[in-house]
Amino acid sequence: MLRVIHRLQPLVPILIVPILLLPSAGRAETPDPPVQPLSTVTATPGTPSPITGRTGDTNPELYAAILPEHRERIYAQTQGKLSRYRITATVEPRGSDQPALVSGTLQLRYVNETATPRDEIYFRLYPNAPAYAEAEMSVSSLSVAGSPVVPVLSVDNTVLQVALLDPLPRGAATDLELTFAATVPVRPMQTYGIFAVDPSTGTIALAHWFPLLAGYDESGWSLHPVSRNGDPIFSNTALFDVRLRTPEDWQVAATGIESERTTAGGVTSRRLISGPVRDFTVVTSDRFESISRDVAGTTVTSYLHPERASGGEAVLNYGATALSVYNELLIPYPYREMDLVEVELYGAGGVEFPQLMLMARSLYANDHSRNEHYLEFVTAHEVGHQWFFAMVGNNQHLDAFIDEGLVEYLSTDVYFTAVHGAETGRRQFGLEVLLWYLGMLRTGRDLVVDQPTDSFSNSSIYAAAVYAKGAIGFAEIHDLIGNDAFFSALRHYTTDNMFGVGTPGALLSAFEAESDRDAGAVWTLWFEQENGAAVFDEQDYQELMVELGLR
Ligand SMILES: [Zn+2]
Repeated sequence: MLRVIHRLQPLVPILIVPILLLPSAGRAETPDPPVQPLSTVTATPGTPSPITGRTGDTNPELYAAILPEHRERIYAQTQGKLSRYRITATVEPRGSDQPALVSGTLQLRYVNETATPRDEIYFRLYPNAPAYAEAEMSVSSLSVAGSPVVPVLSVDNTVLQVALLDPLPRGAATDLELTFAATVPVRPMQTYGIFAVDPSTGTIALAHWFPLLAGYDESGWSLHPVSRNGDPIFSNTALFDVRLRTPEDWQVAATGIESERTTAGGVTSRRLISGPVRDFTVVTSDRFESISRDVAGTTVTSYLHPERASGGEAVLNYGATALSVYNELLIPYPYREMDLVEVELYGAGGVEFPQLMLMARSLYANDHSRNEHYLEFVTAHEVGHQWFFAMVGNNQHLDAFIDEGLVEYLSTDVYFTAVHGAETGRRQFGLEVLLWYLGMLRTGRDLVVDQPTDSFSNSSIYAAAVYAKGAIGFAEIHDLIGNDAFFSALRHYTTDNMFGVGTPGALLSAFEAESDRDAGAVWTLWFEQENGAAVFDEQDYQELMVELGLR
C-alpha cells in the first residue's frame, strides 16, 4: 500500500540517494516471525449458506459523503450489507514530545458478509505490535447483543477474538459495544509514522486508532503478525459514523465529511461520516492550514503546515490533476472529499487511506534533486490507490502487486503521458520503474512478484519486485491488449469489485475478457516467474542510462 522510497543502486551515481531510510535500515533482517495458530482460521470451503434477512444499518445519512449523483446507486448496492462503526472518541495531545492519547467507545453493528455462519469475529489492535514502539491499545467493557463477553488476545495482543453468543447466519447482524484506549507514540522509527506524534510539529497521525475488524477474504480472516514489509492493514468496507473530540484550536483532516461541529469548554466535537470505506483515518494538528479545489464536484484539500505552503500548493495541483486523469480513464471517484495531508513519514513518500492520503513532509521542499517530477509522481501514485486499494480492495499481504504494481504503472507512464506527453511518460517510467528493476537484475537477482509481502527478505527487495517489476508486468499487458481493452478492463474490474476484495484471478480475467486475448503467458512471465533476464540484458540497462541522460 505504501509508495516506498527505494534505495537507488550504487551503480547509479548521478541521482541523489533519498534522505529517507527504509524502515528496515539500521536493524538486522530477521526471519519471518512464527505464524501463530489463529492465522490458520480459514474460510469454510463449499457452498455458501443461504442469506437471511439483512439487518445492517440502513440509515441514508451514513451515505452523505457520497456525491449526490452516485449516492442512490451506491446506497442501493450496499444498504444493509455493510458493518457500521459508531465511534465516540477524544484525542488528547500532550505536547510534541509526549505520546498522545485516544480513547472512546465503539458501537459496532457487525454484518456477517462471510460465506458461512460465524461463531466468532476478530478485531485487529495494530498499535500493540512490537514495531509500534511505546504505542498500545486496550479494550474493555466488551458486550455482544448486550451481554458481557471476555475477549481473547493473541498474536502480540494484536488480535482480539470475540465469541458470539449464537452462530450468526450469513447476512445477519449483531451489535457489539466496547471501550478502547490507545497511546500514540512519538516518532516511532518503524511503521512509517502512520500512527505517531511528530515532534517537529506536534501533528498527530492516526491510522488504525480504534479496534478495526480483521480483514476477511477467500483465504479467511487476516490474523497473521503485523507485516514487516508493505502496509500492515487489510480490512473490509464498512460505514463509519465518528464523533471526535479535540482541543478547540485543533484542525482535523479525516476520511469522510464533517456533518456537525460544536465547541464548548475548550473542546470541539465533530461528527464525521464516511460512506462505504475500508478504514477511517484522522490527522489532527493545531498548526494546519488548508487549501482546496473542486474537481468534478469533489473538494480536494491539501492540509499543510505554514512553512510548507509552496509544497502544499504543488500537492494540491498534482492531486487535483491526478483525480481528473483517473476520473477520465477509470470510473468516477464517487466521494465528496479527497484530502492530501502533510505529515512526517519515515521510509515512505506517501501512504494511502480511503479519501485521505498521508504525504511525506520531506518531499514538500519539491527540490527536484531526485527528479523534477518526484513529488508529482508520489502524489499521482497515492491518488491512484483511491481506485486500487480503496474502492477495490485486495489482500495486501498476499497480493500486494495488484494494487502497488498497477498503481506504480498508472502513476508513471499513464499519468505522465496524459498530463505531460508521451516523452515524459516514458522518461518517468524509465526513471521510477525500469531503472530500479534493471538495476536489480544486474546484481543477478530476480524475484517472483506474486508472493506474500513477508516472503520478501526485506522491504527494499519487496518494493523492487512488487512495485517495479509489477509495474513492468502491467505495462506489458497494456502493450499486449491495447489502450481500449486495458482501461475498459480496469473499469470493469473496479465496478465488479467495488467495495469488495479483488484478486489476481479477477484482474487477469478482466484483461482477457475485454481484449479477447490470452494474457496468461505475459502474466506468468512477469508476476510468477524469475525470468526477467530473458527479456532485459546489460545492453538494455546501458541504453536506458543513456536515454535518461545518466550516462
Ligand atoms: Zn502504493
